[in-house]
Parts: sequence; C-alpha cells; structure tokens
Amino acid sequence: MNGRSAMEGSCCEQPQGETLVFTCAGAAYTGQLANRAGVQMIQQGAGRLFCMAAVAAGISDKLERARQGAARVVIDGCEDRCCRKVLEKAGLPVDVHVVVTDLGIEKQPSEPRLVLDTKRVVERAIEAIGAPRQAPGA
Ligand code: SF4
Repeated sequence: MNGRSAMEGSCCEQPQGETLVFTCAGAAYTGQLANRAGVQMIQQGAGRLFCMAAVAAGISDKLERARQGAARVVIDGCEDRCCRKVLEKAGLPVDVHVVVTDLGIEKQPSEPRLVLDTKRVVERAIEAIGAPRQAPGA
C-alpha cells in the first residue's frame, strides 16, 4: 500500500497542529463513502483521521486533541450533517465541510460506484482544504 496506513494517520497519535479529518461513518452508502474517503485522504497524507465517536462520547483527552488541530475537515454523508453537528455541540469549529450528497451522489443508489464516488469525495475534500475556509454555518 502506498502512503500512510490508517493507524499512522489516526487520532491515537498526537495530532497537534495537523489537519484533522472527521467523517460521519453513517450506515447509508454515502455515510460509508464518507469514511472511506477519510481513510484515503490520510493514506495520501492529506490529514489525520479522527474518532468522531470519541468526540460524541465526550472523551476528554480526545476533545483536547481535537482542539489542538490546525484545521478540522468534516465529511458528512448527507444533508443531516450529523458529524458537523457533533463537532459543533462539542465547541469544535469546522473549517472545511463536505457533504457527499451535495456532490450529486445518491444516499442509497441502486447501482453504487464505490471507487469512482470515493475518488470524487476525496478530490472535493482536498480541493476544499486548499480553498478559502467556509464561514461558520455555510
Ligand atoms: S450525515 Fe447522513 S449518512 Fe451520515 S450519519 Fe448522519 S444521517 Fe447517516
């Protein structure tokens, strides 16, 4: 495998000053796609994947680590925006937000195109990291 392993880019290492990637990892096709895209991003060295569930659970050391990130990137599977809401409830600002269904990908497609759709989400997220930051609530 090229690039970093999932563990090398996880929040179980010290993420201070890095781009942190959070995904909703929902049960829907687009939720799973969001997580797959997050894993591919860290394999490409584009950030560090962080445990969204630990943030939701209020695990104190994970919350502190999440605050230390230079930027927080959220990938949500659909317009419910669960991951973004979890971070905001925890007082963690979201710097870049990608919603998979906003890219025209159906939440439960009849013919999933996992490889192609993942590539689109990764490209969109990496592009957004390089683009001007979104305003809160945008
Ligand atoms: S954002 Fe959508 S896909 Fe992700 S967990 Fe919430 S409802 Fe599921």
